[in-house]
Amino acid sequence: MSDTPKAAPVHAPMDQFESQGGELLVGGMPLSRLAERVGQTPFYAVDRALLDARVAGLRAALPASVSLHYAIKANPMPALVQHMAGLVDGLDVASAGEMQVALNAGMPAQDISFAGPGKRDAELAQAVAAGVLLNVESPREARALAHISQRLGLPARVALRVNPDFELKSSGMKMSGGPKQFGVDAEEVPALLHEMGTMGLAFEGFHLYAGSQNLKAAAIVEAQQKSYELACRLAEHAPGPVKALNLGGGFGIPYFPGETRLDLAPIGDCMANIAADAAHRLPGAELIVELGRYLVGEAGVYVCRVVDRKVSRGQVFLVADGGLHHHLSNSGNFGQVLRKNYPVAIGNRMDAAQGAPLSVVGPLCTPLDLVADRMALPEAQPGDLVVVFQSGAYGATASPQGFLGHPAVVEVLV
Ligand SMILES: *Cc1c(COP(=O)(O)O)cnc(C)c1O
Repeated sequence: MSDTPKAAPVHAPMDQFESQGGELLVGGMPLSRLAERVGQTPFYAVDRALLDARVAGLRAALPASVSLHYAIKANPMPALVQHMAGLVDGLDVASAGEMQVALNAGMPAQDISFAGPGKRDAELAQAVAAGVLLNVESPREARALAHISQRLGLPARVALRVNPDFELKSSGMKMSGGPKQFGVDAEEVPALLHEMGTMGLAFEGFHLYAGSQNLKAAAIVEAQQKSYELACRLAEHAPGPVKALNLGGGFGIPYFPGETRLDLAPIGDCMANIAADAAHRLPGAELIVELGRYLVGEAGVYVCRVVDRKVSRGQVFLVADGGLHHHLSNSGNFGQVLRKNYPVAIGNRMDAAQGAPLSVVGPLCTPLDLVADRMALPEAQPGDLVVVFQSGAYGATASPQGFLGHPAVVEVLV
């Protein structure tokens, strides 16, 4: 610890992108030129090389025997899903629509799993016909799948999604423990497993998903260990051997000032211990980690252009052509309790000194349309490019694009 007090950080880390001559480089291209290439602002751009590096880093930290799945709801852009299909071992989908994207990307049905509450019978039938693994979320779903399997003469491949009796601590979004709409409560699982044994389904294993957006390795390790122990106990009631054990993910990325990147080392150690133990307790079981934002979030930026600069009672507002309607999560309205700033920069003035705090707002007629709230940024003018980092996940498809009728956002992979 140094003696001099440090100023509070303005941003979460955004050093994954380099800059040159004051221009942010995305996919190796200066941002102003990329904006010309795209032909409009606002746009999302995801950097292929950063996706590659992220997956390589994760593979190096985790035991080689652990399979890596990409949960495509984080970013279902077809070109990106296709790129990821070549890097990971499987794709996780949460609707029949996402399943089509995953199949179109060339991922074998064998390596696609389909989770989500409230799967309609038509979606279940599509999934059985495709041959993907279904994560069963309720007794009703199991029974519907039994009927569909019989009708198609094709046993549904199923894993049982378990709502554990614990939660993921320090998580941005808790999805287990207590009453939840996801999965089957752990205490109800043995009875349902016995019933499933009589249903003509192809039982393959378990799915446990404790939560999302966690930056504390210790909390993730605890959830992984508890999930594994619970799966071993439940496996004694299973109608067949466990071939796949999906232990979830929840690996977070730093979005807000003061947050730092997740330390993968303890998670790698924990997975190695689990893999060694599973080799004799669940022989033949594939261990799976499923991640969304961790794989793609830091590889993407959202770019909009300053349209106007206003001063209201001493406060500077840059009014941009993009905002909440394309990037709800950055506006603070996608699950945040207290709004904080994502990392933001002026992408064509990366070398300029920071000026007085200013706010970047979008074009919508609502005070919720904030891109950056009173942030130290360089002096910027109409025509400059505002860049929001950590925007590769939960962007375009997680935003209300129809709201106020502004033009749609374009997405590119560079
Ligand atoms: C949303 C979700 C994910 C991805 O979450 P991230 O926080 O983006 O990693 C993975 N699995 C399931 C079951 C999910 O619901």
